Amino acid sequence: MRKILEKEITYVKGIGPVKADIMDQELGIKTVHDLVLNFPFRYIDKSEVRLIKDMTPNETVQTRGTLISKSVIKGKRQSRLTAVLKDSSGFLELIWFKGIKWINDKLVLNREYYVYGRTSTFKGSMSIAHPEMEAVKPGVHKRSSFEPVYSSTEKLNNLGFDSKARRRILKNIIPKLTAADFPENLPDYILQKLKLIPKYQAVQWLHFPPDSNALSEAKKRLKFEEVLYFQLRILYNKELRKLKIKGHPFLEIGKYFNKFYNEKLSFELTDAQKKVIKEIRADLGSGLQMNRLLQGDVGSGKTIVALFCMLISKDNGYQSVLMAPTEILAQQHFNSITESISGLGLRVAFLSGNVKGKVRNEILRLLKSGDLDILIGTHAVLEKPVQFENLGLAIIDEQHRFGVMQRSKLWLKGKDNPPHVLVMTATPIPRTLAMTIYGDLEVSVIDELPPGRKDIKTVHRTEKYRPQVIEFMHQQIKLGRQIYVVFPLIEESSKLDLENLQQGYDKLLHFFPPPEYKLSVVHGKMKPADKDIEMQRFAQSKTQIMVATTVIEVGVNVPNASVMIIENTERFGLSQLHQLRGRVGRGAEQSYCILMSSYKLSEDARTRISTMVSTNDGFKIAEVDLEIRGPGDIEGTQQSGIMDFKVFNIIFDQDILNKARTIAQRILDKDPYLESAPNLRFKQYLSKMKDGSTHWGRIG
Ligand code: ADP
Ligand code: MG
Repeated sequence: MRKILEKEITYVKGIGPVKADIMDQELGIKTVHDLVLNFPFRYIDKSEVRLIKDMTPNETVQTRGTLISKSVIKGKRQSRLTAVLKDSSGFLELIWFKGIKWINDKLVLNREYYVYGRTSTFKGSMSIAHPEMEAVKPGVHKRSSFEPVYSSTEKLNNLGFDSKARRRILKNIIPKLTAADFPENLPDYILQKLKLIPKYQAVQWLHFPPDSNALSEAKKRLKFEEVLYFQLRILYNKELRKLKIKGHPFLEIGKYFNKFYNEKLSFELTDAQKKVIKEIRADLGSGLQMNRLLQGDVGSGKTIVALFCMLISKDNGYQSVLMAPTEILAQQHFNSITESISGLGLRVAFLSGNVKGKVRNEILRLLKSGDLDILIGTHAVLEKPVQFENLGLAIIDEQHRFGVMQRSKLWLKGKDNPPHVLVMTATPIPRTLAMTIYGDLEVSVIDELPPGRKDIKTVHRTEKYRPQVIEFMHQQIKLGRQIYVVFPLIEESSKLDLENLQQGYDKLLHFFPPPEYKLSVVHGKMKPADKDIEMQRFAQSKTQIMVATTVIEVGVNVPNASVMIIENTERFGLSQLHQLRGRVGRGAEQSYCILMSSYKLSEDARTRISTMVSTNDGFKIAEVDLEIRGPGDIEGTQQSGIMDFKVFNIIFDQDILNKARTIAQRILDKDPYLESAPNLRFKQYLSKMKDGSTHWGRIG
């Protein structure tokens, strides 16, 4: 068998070069081995045989009875074949509209059949259209109760390679598999402890489970194996990195840190912020390079933590860099940080693609000579000419907006050793995903908001309520508050969206006429300098309403703004909505979020809106987001490898993930190089994974 598994798929009878080509293109199946590892996506349960009288409409059931009549009924446009099945309890009508002749020839009167399909009622009598029919074989009582259903594509179906054809082929291959074909890759002690079935057995049962228990055993085994290796690999590499890569030891907590803490900080840090700063300090002083993820909901106060880290870096004689995903956000960080550390004597500069010519050259020069302490900017800080004298710390804000590549580019900016790396993110991803995507990072969580914050009141309104919304805006402005009105802007349809925004702006002008009212506009098509001027005017309370696209989504901080109005809410994703809402509720005032939408909504849009209305909890929102969109569409997942899982499902199998993570960690704690005899299989299989010889090889 082993040999056969390694053969090209054309080895299988009935699969020629044409089919093989399409199987490769559409399903990525090249070899017999690939075919075997391409598991069914569902099963038809044939364990139950229902009496006809117990059938209810619209369910998929199996029954067994004798075919007592059949006839072809000619219709004007279409003929149909009908037959009657009888069991001890009653009669069932069977109907076919297609392939009538062929089926009619095959059906034998007075023979007993298993009949499987979806029931429906017509004029009070039960029927099944296009049922699957299988003649009852005399003397055979035990049938395989679960039939695998394989995913196929239109092209393959047209070539006659549908799920059934595949089932037939696999029926020939799968039962012959032995332990030699799929050597056990988990150590015996793990198998025993977790009561897992052998690998080859699991592969067999996942295709043709003898019963539901076997099916769940097979799933459990293969899912666990898949995540365990995924986690082992992440953690193993993390350990290796720790051993190989030294960090700059930041042993001092000195002048800058203390002076800022004692003299400049205008509020008390939350306990969560203190805890996180402590964790980071421990990392920085350990002599190892720090790679830490700082998770905290919008408004939890991550920026100040970042600033403290940069002060520690300075205290130890190192430079630091803070990178943000948008110009507005980077600029805002620059403004607020320069303001809060004014008088401390630190030298801070701002860099983005729009900083050019002499100014840019001067910044680059000062950076190189060590005359700048902190650089704040957009991804422009990653460019080659940006060189540091001694970069000790790199911070990435809103990490989910960047890829893994950018993180590694920052690594290379260090001199002898890579800088310590802190990546910050609000929580558009659930913890389980974070564990996988950012599995190679240490994680700190700020799980509390600064005191005095009130939950943002969120409501959903349709166009009918526009007058009330306008009235409410007037009230809030009278109270001295400011308002965001956000319009969707999606790249492909940007022209239409811009018009939409322009119209919305004009309408608002009508209700809020100058000079009494002043409006700002910010959208992605504006020049950065203009955007900045508008942002600043709003931030300084010179305008009361900010009409904007999602450019303000991440990070923008104007504490006096207390109302967020989102137009065409149905067009935004959940994490985006949560980020947008996070722009208000940053001061002590009660804040509001009004989700405007049309009356007609898709089910998903309805779920998104009701989730927003019912909770402010970023983690909960992230979970729902994951359920609606699936992991593939969530930022950060694409390069992570989790999309390659064959059986493991990140949404439904979170408990398996947690278990695997704990076990992987425990194994490596005891045996960091996986050298002990019991762990030999781990080591062997991991090294096989690395050379890409299995599908796991792609995970990096
Ligand atoms: P985020 O975590 O979303 O990046 P920010 O760092 O922008 O949040 O902080 C949001 C607001 O909360 C800022 O105005 C900041 O000054 C303020 N803030 C941060 N920490 C505290 C605290 N401990 N007490 C009071 N206000 C705080
Ligand atoms: Mg922030």
